[in-house]
Amino acid sequence: MAAYNDIPLPSDGTPITVENGKFVIPDNPIIPFIEGDGTGRDIWRATRMVCDAAVAKAYGGRRRVVWYEIFAGEKAFNKFNSWLPQGTLDAIRELHIAIKGPLTTPVGGGFRSLNVSLRQMLNLYACWRPVRYYAGVPSPMKRPELLDVVIMRENTEDVYAGIEWRQGTPEVLKVIEFLQKEMGAKIRTDSGVGIKPISITGSKRLIRRAIRYALDNNRRSVTLVHKGNIMKFTEGAFRDWGYELVKEEFADTCVTEAEAGATPPAGKVIVKDRIADSMFQQVLLRPDEYDVLATPNLNGDYLSDACAAQVGGLGMAPGGNIGDEHGCFEATHGTAPKYADQDVVNPSSLILSGSMMFQFMGWKEVSALIEQGITRTIAQKRVTYDLHRLMEGATKVKTSEFGAAIAENMDGA
Ligand code: NAP
Repeated sequence: MAAYNDIPLPSDGTPITVENGKFVIPDNPIIPFIEGDGTGRDIWRATRMVCDAAVAKAYGGRRRVVWYEIFAGEKAFNKFNSWLPQGTLDAIRELHIAIKGPLTTPVGGGFRSLNVSLRQMLNLYACWRPVRYYAGVPSPMKRPELLDVVIMRENTEDVYAGIEWRQGTPEVLKVIEFLQKEMGAKIRTDSGVGIKPISITGSKRLIRRAIRYALDNNRRSVTLVHKGNIMKFTEGAFRDWGYELVKEEFADTCVTEAEAGATPPAGKVIVKDRIADSMFQQVLLRPDEYDVLATPNLNGDYLSDACAAQVGGLGMAPGGNIGDEHGCFEATHGTAPKYADQDVVNPSSLILSGSMMFQFMGWKEVSALIEQGITRTIAQKRVTYDLHRLMEGATKVKTSEFGAAIAENMDGA
């Protein structure tokens, strides 16, 4: 049996494998988890309990998750004198699917971000952010329930590629000189410069993932969100490659908005595009016309948080970074250290990330039970302090009590 960070894999579990590009999920998969720093401990405890309860209710003992702790952040530093031990990265690479709580970002250099390291090492090219409303959650919108979108954001390119030069350095002056002299570009010599690469490879695999998600989950449309009116060869190309992909690979199952006309053919996913600034208006004004949104990196970053705010905030928003052979699921908020170990914060973001993880594994019954448990618990107004302070007539519960209420609110198999 393999070991990571000198901790052997549990002998009662079986590792997940990938064969011919498909996940092979045993009935007792070993799933590595990072509990996270600060309130990560509180929300992980509740999440693990809810996940175990949902699996037990869905499969009555036929399946179960064998959790395996791996370490990053403060706990790793205290135990192994490293913020991100190699064994942690290896475990996620070899065990394929993992879940993590939030991590402290240490002040001062020397720490590679776990997310960036994982993204690069495992080719987690899509950031998957579902955004839907849970009845009763305070929202600034009149009808927040109309928004139910899944954002698939490209995770590896665009202005996030990390290719930039600081103003005034010999490097940036060399780049500016090249662009001025060789390419005829007009750039002020006192500029900093960043590069925005967007490739066919990066765009098509992301859009393919978004379309497959729409097809597998009976979603009506995929919208390509871009700023191609201005950035023609990067964002405009993202849109064009998306439509090209539809012709090449999805001609039988998808139709473009232009082809569909006023009466789209039943059973086909409609692929359309919107300019990014218009998209921000559309999600506010006509939210029910949108479904899966496929975006380049920067648009997706802004749009995910804006949509999350519409339905009641980041405290509830789950997320996952996924590739063809890996998935890493996580809360989207930070460690909220002032509440650490007080059993008070809202665990919904990590619990819903757990639900996404089960959906990714194909254990859709588990995912549905978790969603049901959360929906009912919030509708009963049994909520943690953050929602309690905004909801009239609610009962304030602890993190652990909220988790227990979710488990109680799941119907059996
Ligand atoms: P934060 O941890 O997200 O907390 C900011 C505020 O958001 C909290 O004070 C609290 O607001 C509210 N909040 C966050 N999580 C909550 C939850 N589960 N339930 C209820 N309320 C919640 O942001 P931060 O204070 O800027 O960052 C703290 C640390 O987390 C930093 O080290 C940062 O680098 C790290 N971080 C990690 C990740 C990650 O690992 N993915 C992401 C972001 C930040 P109230 O005080 O109003 O109740």
